[in-house]
Amino acid sequence: MTVASRTPIIAGNWKMNMNPEEARALARSIREQLPDLPNIEVLLCPPFVSLPVVADEVKGTRILLGAQNMYPDPSGAFTGEISPMMLSAICQYVILGHSERRNLLKETNTFVNRKVLSALDHGLRPIVCVGETLEQRDAGRTEQVLRRQTRGSLANVPSFSDIAVAYEPVWAIGTGRAATPQDATAGIDVIRETISSMAGKDTADHVPILYGGSVSPSNADELFTQPQLDGGLIGGASLMADQFVGIAIAAQESLR
Ligand code: PEP
Repeated sequence: MTVASRTPIIAGNWKMNMNPEEARALARSIREQLPDLPNIEVLLCPPFVSLPVVADEVKGTRILLGAQNMYPDPSGAFTGEISPMMLSAICQYVILGHSERRNLLKETNTFVNRKVLSALDHGLRPIVCVGETLEQRDAGRTEQVLRRQTRGSLANVPSFSDIAVAYEPVWAIGTGRAATPQDATAGIDVIRETISSMAGKDTADHVPILYGGSVSPSNADELFTQPQLDGGLIGGASLMADQFVGIAIAAQESLR
């Protein structure tokens, strides 16, 4: 197969920013500035409480919606959590295993894996984040960490057809120090090889693998011209409509 069969994704991870009123204004501004980009999927991931207003703003457009997390069980006594059933009524995607959750909230590969399986069960497409810390990188353990996180988070997945992965080196997130195109490509290659060892090369070749970590309009071109990159998970720059739209346009122009 050719890489052309993977649809690139540009996803905005708004993290714990934007109250509903601000979220509506940002979504509206993105909607108004975003040209038609037929070759890529553009996706907004606001906080849970802002999902309905953003859904309302992007209704009738090609912009898709994602959540930033979910609990694996469909319902029950899980105070403060949000279920896949609640999300699937409003979202197409869910970000799982973000490094902020792995590191700050101690989410394990096993827990991320439960969420991935549950998301698929409920018709949500997971964007599964993996990435090494600076300490792991400096210790020469990047490859080992990426293999372990990929295997652990994607264990027993019945089909990879609705899965996307984001390679997010932790040292590049929110630091303004994006990975070089070579480093991003090397990480993505390890992830794809790992999926290939789990599910076969043909399956692995169809899984979109995004890069995330300080993507901005100024580095988007050099990153997205790498054939291994299937788009980006964008944090800080996704909070500014002009920057996010600029990155999406760069992706449309650079990615197949
Ligand atoms: C992220 O949080 O997933 C991310 C990539 O953030 P930033 O773009 O700000 O580095």
